[in-house]
Amino acid sequence: MKKADIDWGSLGFGYMPVGKRYVADYKDGAWSEGYLTEDTNVVISECAGVLQYAQTCFEGLKAYTTSDGRTVTFRPDLNAARIKDSAERLRIPVFPEEKFMEAVDMVVKANEEFVPPFGSGATLYIRPVLFATGPVIGVKPAQEYQFRMFATPVGPYFKGGVKPLTIRVCDYDRAAPHGTGHIKAGLNYAMSLYAIDDAHEKGFDENMYLDAATRTNVEETGGANFLFITKDNKVVTPKSGTILPSITRRSLMVVAKEYLGLEVEEREVPLSEVSEMAEIGLCGTAAVISPVGRIFDHGKEICVPSGMDGMGPVTKKLYDTLTGIQMGVIEAPAGWIHEIK
Ligand SMILES: *Cc1c(COP(=O)(O)O)cnc(C)c1O
Repeated sequence: MKKADIDWGSLGFGYMPVGKRYVADYKDGAWSEGYLTEDTNVVISECAGVLQYAQTCFEGLKAYTTSDGRTVTFRPDLNAARIKDSAERLRIPVFPEEKFMEAVDMVVKANEEFVPPFGSGATLYIRPVLFATGPVIGVKPAQEYQFRMFATPVGPYFKGGVKPLTIRVCDYDRAAPHGTGHIKAGLNYAMSLYAIDDAHEKGFDENMYLDAATRTNVEETGGANFLFITKDNKVVTPKSGTILPSITRRSLMVVAKEYLGLEVEEREVPLSEVSEMAEIGLCGTAAVISPVGRIFDHGKEICVPSGMDGMGPVTKKLYDTLTGIQMGVIEAPAGWIHEIK
């Protein structure tokens, strides 16, 4: 496949409207047949449910080229399952999982020239989104929806090397107990924008959110789950009903146990324990793992022993193993790599 004339290495993480996207509409109680279009615009009622009451959810996954030249996606079945959970919680009609998988294949195939070549560090980021297009004025679920999946090439996450992040313990909450923290809803992000802008203005890269009920346990950041490495090499991740179940984090826990032979724990992580950790990372599709170097907790500074120069040794091993699996250099567990044919 001939690739587009793009300087892959200099791409950032931004929206570049390219190629074709997949669209399906929900009307009269059923999803239409999906189709590909070059039209980047959506025309909806001024009274659409998505505009009035934020009835929308999304996903994020990547397509890339493996070392042996195959075009693949990573565990798209988990994105299909997660957007189903998100839709159910928001009273959006579920977009069938097998149709979602088909849509991923169609979008990647149709945009193959924008799947960056192996070794460029860049990837094709795929953004599925479900939203209410039908009008509502009284508060209720809309009658009409659109499922759309577009793709945009994004650059290498660690351009110019890995820089550990400086984060702060945040005084705002991300997710209420029994709320919507566990689903990928746009509303969770809308209300995090104030806190992230405030963090940036004060010189921090990210917010560490605590559990809203007790403000004693670590939850996650605005868009990534935490992984902690203890001084005796255990890999620990917070367990909470208000965390978004990151596919990257779930995969890294398997890698830690099955590939690296490390002990893994999913449990509550008190903020008071964080200063005891040897390494800390943030995980999500975009970065896989970003190391955290410093945490500010109201004037108290926690310096993570792995420092500000790069990833700690265990984080690095986790990163190298998972990216090796994704790139086809290390054998993947069954079903993790989905080839686009
Ligand atoms: C998407 C997301 C993540 C990361 O999930 P991945 O599936 O690994 O990309 C973590 N936290 C939040 C709040 C998210 O929305």
